[in-house]
Amino acid sequence: MTSRRSFLHSSLLAAGAAALPAFAADKTAAPPPAPKAIDGARVVSTWDFGVGANQAAWKRLGEGGAALDAVEAGARWAEADLCNSTVGRCGNPDRDGVLTLDASIMDGDGRCGAVAALEDIAHPVSVARRVMERTPHVLLAGAGAQQFAVEQGFAKEPLLTDKARAAWNEWRKTSQYQPVINAERLDHARPGDKHNHDTLGILAIDRSGKLAGACTTSGMAWKLHGRVGDSPIVGAGLYVDNDVGAATASGVGEEMLRNAASFLVVELMRQGRSPDEACREAIERVVRKRPQASKTLQVCFLAIDKHGEVGAHALHRGFVYAVCDAGKRDALLDAPSVYATEQT
Ligand code: ASP
Repeated sequence: MTSRRSFLHSSLLAAGAAALPAFAADKTAAPPPAPKAIDGARVVSTWDFGVGANQAAWKRLGEGGAALDAVEAGARWAEADLCNSTVGRCGNPDRDGVLTLDASIMDGDGRCGAVAALEDIAHPVSVARRVMERTPHVLLAGAGAQQFAVEQGFAKEPLLTDKARAAWNEWRKTSQYQPVINAERLDHARPGDKHNHDTLGILAIDRSGKLAGACTTSGMAWKLHGRVGDSPIVGAGLYVDNDVGAATASGVGEEMLRNAASFLVVELMRQGRSPDEACREAIERVVRKRPQASKTLQVCFLAIDKHGEVGAHALHRGFVYAVCDAGKRDALLDAPSVYATEQT
């Protein structure tokens, strides 16, 4: 069995000892750094497939479109993308071989909608938007979410691919028929590496300064049937507030649920933290709550503030995020992490 060594990430070490005692540092001692304002719109997305999602979003944002339309377009791109096994069509199924999708969408005025454990509907983010715009509710789940989607004109179609079914069959041969805690570690050397891009979290600020976000996923592969992660839970996988900024998450959703994590990141920004600082403090909160578990699971946060400044942080190395604005189109950045995990 693979053994692992964890040590503080080199980027933190490189930043000097002063950056390390964040767990204990007196955050009130230094004033927060002045936010770096951007001129115009910007969109950011989790993982390297975020580049494609950003491009789809930018078609709206770049022409002066609304942030809400942009994040929906970006999320739809990822849901239709045939190259990832963690979002929308082509996602890996649950323990019982059923593909269930989770998604949420939110704007900076607090309007939000979500669907959980949705089956056989290709674009859960758009169903989530309909929940937001056409019902008095925020979250629809399971059969009810599917019924609503069909009533709204969404086509019902099988989404499980042969590739995903084969991966599930392979997993069943070797597993104890229990869901693993982090699908990112199933086949690959590092959590969150480029072969297993997880939830698509996308955040945008438009030219009028309005924010919006969306989050869409098939959740952890081989999860128990009926398991709902953080992505469709407003405050856990996604939170947006025009007064402050927006945050989204990827990784083991149970940790985000335990910590109301995206809400936490936004509230830390409200208290004056930069997006970077807020993401790092939220990661540190996860570690403090469950130090042992934190060594073997991945948690990642991405945030943007109302000025367009972007920050990210992960528990383990490997989290990348994509940034797109008028100046840069396909930028892909490595997020700093608390631990660097090495396989030996
Ligand atoms: N956060 C997602 C979930 O727990 C999965 C992921 O981002 O890896 O469902």
